[in-house]
Amino acid sequence: MSFSQPKTTIDEGDTVILYLTVTNVYAIEAVPQIKNKKGELIDNVFQTNFGALKVKDIIGVQYGSKVDLTKGWAYVLQPNPELWTQTLPHRTQILYTPDISMILYQLEIRPGSIVIESGTGSGSLSHYFLRAIRPHGFLHTFDFHEERVQKAQEEFESHGLGEFVKVTHRDVCENGFGADLDGKADAVFLDLPVPQLAIPHAVKAMKEQGGRLCSFSPCIEQSGRVCEALEQQGFVDIVNLEVLQLEEVVRVKNVPVMNLEFVKHKKTESDKETKTPKETKKYVTSSAPSSVAGHTGFLTVAELPPLFAR
Ligand code: SAH
Repeated sequence: MSFSQPKTTIDEGDTVILYLTVTNVYAIEAVPQIKNKKGELIDNVFQTNFGALKVKDIIGVQYGSKVDLTKGWAYVLQPNPELWTQTLPHRTQILYTPDISMILYQLEIRPGSIVIESGTGSGSLSHYFLRAIRPHGFLHTFDFHEERVQKAQEEFESHGLGEFVKVTHRDVCENGFGADLDGKADAVFLDLPVPQLAIPHAVKAMKEQGGRLCSFSPCIEQSGRVCEALEQQGFVDIVNLEVLQLEEVVRVKNVPVMNLEFVKHKKTESDKETKTPKETKKYVTSSAPSSVAGHTGFLTVAELPPLFAR
C-alpha cells in the first residue's frame, strides 16, 4: 500500500526502496518469510553489495531510517514513481523520468484527468499517471500481452492504487479501446510498435471537447507515420519532440584578467608582445557538454479540437 499516501512506518507487505548509493537502489517487499524452490517457508534475506538484510527487521521501522546490513548500511525509503522506475522488474523496455515529465506536461495531466494508455508494458509510466490524476481521475491501460496485464494489475493492487486503474487485455490496434470508453478520455498515450493503427480508435475514445495525444517512437520513421495519421484524423498543433538531458560541465578555469588600459592604448604588434597581460584569475565556469548521450525516442504530441471544429 506504500504508494497511495505518505506513511511514517513500514508495514508488512509494503514495497520499500532500499537505497545504498545513487546507483545501488532496490525495491523489496516487506515480507518476513518467502518460499524457497522446494516450497518451504524460509526467512526472507535480501543480499546486497554491502551484505545481507533480514527483511523482517525493517517491519515497524520508520521510513527514511538508516538500517544495518551485515557489511554496511542503507536507507529505507517510501517508494514514489521516480524510485520505482529505477528499481522495477523489467518485463519490457520502459520509459524514464525525463521523457515522462515531458509526457505529463504535454498531455496536460492533472487531478481528475481520464487517461488512456497502451501498452502498459512494465507499468513505469502508469505510476506517474496514477500519481498525477488522483484522487478523481482514472487510468485505462491496455496491453495485448496477457502475463504483463496480470502482473501490472497485481502490482497496482499491492501498491494501493487499484481503485484508480483498470488494466485490459486487448490488441488496441485491432480492436480499439472499447465502446464503453467512447467520448471519455482527456488524454491518450501510445507506446506501441505501430501506433498509427490505434489513432482512429483514440479519436473515438476522446471527449467531445477534444484533448491531447502523445505517441512515443524510438525512430524518426515511426514518428513520421504517426504525424501523417494524426493529420488525417483531424489533429492540430502536431509537434515532434526529443528530450535530451544536458548535464552542464562545471570546471575551475584560469581566466586572463583583461587589462583595459592595455586594450585602450594598444597600437602596434610590438606593443602586444611587450604588454600582453600575464595576470590570471580562477573562476568556477559552466559550459554545455560537447556531445549529448542518451537518445531514447521521439514524442509526437498533438491536440484534437472540439467535435464542432473538426
Ligand atoms: N510505456 C511502458 C512500456 C511499454 S512497452 C512502460 O513505461 O513501462 C510496449 C508494450 O506494448 C508491450 O508490453 C507490448 O505488449 C504492448 N503492445 C504492443 N502492441 C500492442 C497492441 N497492438 N495492443 C496492445 N498492446 C500492445
